[in-house]
Amino acid sequence: MEKSWERYSRQMLFQPIGEEGQQKLLNSKVLIVGMGALGTVVANHLARAGVGHLVFCDRDYVELSNLQRQTLFDEEDVQQFLPKAVAAEKKLRKLNSSISIEGHVADISANNIEEFIEGVDVIVDGTDNFQTRYLINDVAYKYNIPFIYGGAVSSRGMGTVFIPGKTSCLRCLFPTHDSSGQTCDTIGVLSPVVDIVASLEALQCMKLLTDNQDDIANELTTFDIWKNHHFSMKLGEANEQCPTCQLKEYPTLTESDQDQVTTLCGRDTVQIVNNGTVDLEESEKKLRSLVKDLKRTPFLLRVYLHEGETMVLFPDGRTLIQGTEDISRAKTLFSKYIGM
Ligand SMILES: [Zn+2]
Repeated sequence: MEKSWERYSRQMLFQPIGEEGQQKLLNSKVLIVGMGALGTVVANHLARAGVGHLVFCDRDYVELSNLQRQTLFDEEDVQQFLPKAVAAEKKLRKLNSSISIEGHVADISANNIEEFIEGVDVIVDGTDNFQTRYLINDVAYKYNIPFIYGGAVSSRGMGTVFIPGKTSCLRCLFPTHDSSGQTCDTIGVLSPVVDIVASLEALQCMKLLTDNQDDIANELTTFDIWKNHHFSMKLGEANEQCPTCQLKEYPTLTESDQDQVTTLCGRDTVQIVNNGTVDLEESEKKLRSLVKDLKRTPFLLRVYLHEGETMVLFPDGRTLIQGTEDISRAKTLFSKYIGM
């Protein structure tokens, strides 16, 4: 065994992986969408397992309330207002410097998702909303890439694997998704359930990458770890009218960009996406005399407004307005200080 492979020795002793499987992992590329609770656990496992090329994107920065469950982050990341993609990349390099790790501070959308999937063997869901999951589902079926779905809230978790050409898709399983308002930010979430869901996602990913697809159950698994419930259901037949896996229309990829302004559910925050990039240093100069305080890092500019709200500017043109869920108020503050 090559010396550099010693780190994978216990995994290679596991017969279904072996040396051949390890080589396949090292030759693989995985995209993780979202680097929050699920994403950090998935990335931790896959980096240690030796997936050769990890790509991920996340739009947020690390906050104190994340540390309870987002296992790649620490207090220093919070103090430095580090974007999650940056903090995760730094930590993952310390765990395994021999693989390629690529973190992007970006809000995944129809405009950019196709840029991230080149050469990707599997897409792993680390998001917290169905809007993005439908988008991942469309891109996965359009480009024939397996998509691993997982979700966790409160003490409940669920997950499955969607394989284009083999299984029905997320949209067949959940044709619509009415948010019940039950999110991690409104009813909370326990760290162990996140760990279990994400660990299962990482495991299914390893099966796919090592050509052990037959060991994937093609079931939707749901559980409540507090109430000790566990339930599995076979993925059903595809819906003949499914616009994704049957009609191949991929609606979220062709929708016009209508979501320029969105409230981040339960976060008391509105996100506004502006076209074009933002020069943080220039913005800091421009705003300094107008606001209570500001703090610039290489990755973002935090602006504390006299009105009470806080604005966070990112170089990719996004602005978060924290302290309000009122879209029109957020737009007013945005036009006042940034201009539409
Ligand atoms: Zn479908």
